[in-house]
Amino acid sequence: MDKQQEFVLRTLEERDIRFVRLWFTDVLGFLKSVAVAPAELEQAFDEGIGFDGSAIEGFARVYESDMIAKPDPSTFQIIPWRAETPGTARMFCDILMPDGSPSFADPRYVLKRSLAKTSDLGFTFYTHPEIEFFLLKDRPLDGSRPTPADNSGYFDHTPQNVGMDFRRQAITMLESMGISVEFSHHEGAPGQQEIDLRYADALSTADNIMTFRLVMKQVALEQGVQATFMPKPFSEYPGSGMHTHLSLFEGDRNAFYESGAEYQLSKVGRSFIAGLLQHAAEISAVTNQWVNSYKRIWGGSSRAAGAGGEAPSYICWGHNNRSALIRVPMYKPGKTGSSRIEVRSLDSGANPYLAYALLLAAGLKGIEEGYELGPGADDDVWALSDAERRAMGIAPLPQNLGEAIDLMERSELVAETLGEHVFDFFLRNKRQEWEEYRSEVTAFELRKNLPVL
Ligand code: GLN
Ligand code: MG
Ligand code: MG
Ligand code: MG
Repeated sequence: MDKQQEFVLRTLEERDIRFVRLWFTDVLGFLKSVAVAPAELEQAFDEGIGFDGSAIEGFARVYESDMIAKPDPSTFQIIPWRAETPGTARMFCDILMPDGSPSFADPRYVLKRSLAKTSDLGFTFYTHPEIEFFLLKDRPLDGSRPTPADNSGYFDHTPQNVGMDFRRQAITMLESMGISVEFSHHEGAPGQQEIDLRYADALSTADNIMTFRLVMKQVALEQGVQATFMPKPFSEYPGSGMHTHLSLFEGDRNAFYESGAEYQLSKVGRSFIAGLLQHAAEISAVTNQWVNSYKRIWGGSSRAAGAGGEAPSYICWGHNNRSALIRVPMYKPGKTGSSRIEVRSLDSGANPYLAYALLLAAGLKGIEEGYELGPGADDDVWALSDAERRAMGIAPLPQNLGEAIDLMERSELVAETLGEHVFDFFLRNKRQEWEEYRSEVTAFELRKNLPVL
C-alpha cells in the first residue's frame, strides 16, 4: 500500500466517512458513480471493484461486459454537500479490463495516453478552462423554452442577482474540494455565468471539470434554480463556451515563451498553434459534440444582435482577436514565461478528457511535423466576405454535426488518439444523433410554413 492510499484510509476513519463514491466518465462525458463501503477500499486499491460495463455509454459490448474501476487515491476529496457525519467522499477511477489492462473505452485513459506521449517528448501540458453555463428557473423537458434565472448582463453586479450568491457558494464548495478558482463573473446573456479555474496539469483539469459540473448543478438546486452546460439554450443569446488556455512546459520553463519574439511566442508555440488550426475541423465532432454545439458556433445572421457572442466560426488565429478560433492573449508585462494559447471553439458540453487529448495531439503533431504558422488575422473575421476570407486562407469550421462527423471519420489523427474502440463508438453514436435531428420536423418549419403553405 502506498502513502496516498494510506492517507485515504486514515482520513476515512478520522473523518467518519461511511460512503466512498468511485467516479468515472462515459464516452460522451457523463459522470458515473458507484458507492462502496470503506471496508472495501483496501481491496479496491489492490484489484479494483468489478461492475457491468455494458450499461455504460460506449464502454463494452454485452459479451465483454465485466469491467473494473480502480480508484486513483490522488483524487480523494470529501464531498462538501454531504459533509455532515457520517460523510461521503469521492475518488476518480481508472477503468480496467478483467485481466487488469487499461480499458480502451475509458476517456481518462485516452487522455493519459496523449499525456504519456507529451512527456516522451519532454513536455508537461497545462490547461486553464473558462467555463460558461446558464442558471435557469426551470428545466422544461418537453422542448419548450427555459427561463433564465436573472436578467443581468456581462460583469453586472446588481443586488437581486441570483448569480452572485450562487457564485460565492459554488466557489467555496469548489475550493473545499481542492479546485482553485481564478475569476468569476456574470456572462453576457441573462442567467449566464462564467467561472475560470486556475491552471493545472490537463488530467487534473479534466477531473476538475467533471467535478465542477456536478457542483454547479448541486449548488443551483440548493438555490432553487437549475444549471445547464448545454452549448446554446437560447437562439437570441450567446452560447456557453469553454475557452481553454493551453501551455507546454519543459521542466519549469514555458516552452511557448521566447523573449523578444513576436507576441513572446516561441517556435514550439507557433507550430503548436499551426497544428491546432490544421486539425481544428476534424476534431470538431469532439470539441463540439452535439447538434446544438453548431448553433453556438454559427450564431448566424442574428450575430449582429449579439446572439453569436464571440464564438469562433472560422479557423484562424490572432493576437487578442476575439473573433479568432485561437487567441494569443496579451502577455503580462514583467511576468516572463507566461505565454499561452487560448482555444475558443471548445464548448461546455464537451467530454473534457477526449477534447483535451485531441487538442494536445493536434498541437504536438504541429511540433513534430514542424508545421509553419501563417500570418494571424487582425480583422474581425465575421465581418469579412467569403471571398476575402478565402483570399486569406481562412476556412470555416464545420457547419453542423453531420459535416463534423464526416471530417472526423476520415481523420487519422482522431482515430489514432481516441483509439479504435472510442473512435467507432463515438462516430456511431453521433451519426445516430444527427440522423434523429434530421428526421425531426422542427418548430422553425412549422412557424415558417404552416401560416402560408
Ligand atoms: N459565450 C462566448 C462563447 O460562446 C464567449 C464570450 C466571451 O467570453 N468573450 O464562446
Ligand atoms: Mg473569460
Ligand atoms: Mg466568457
Ligand atoms: Mg476567454
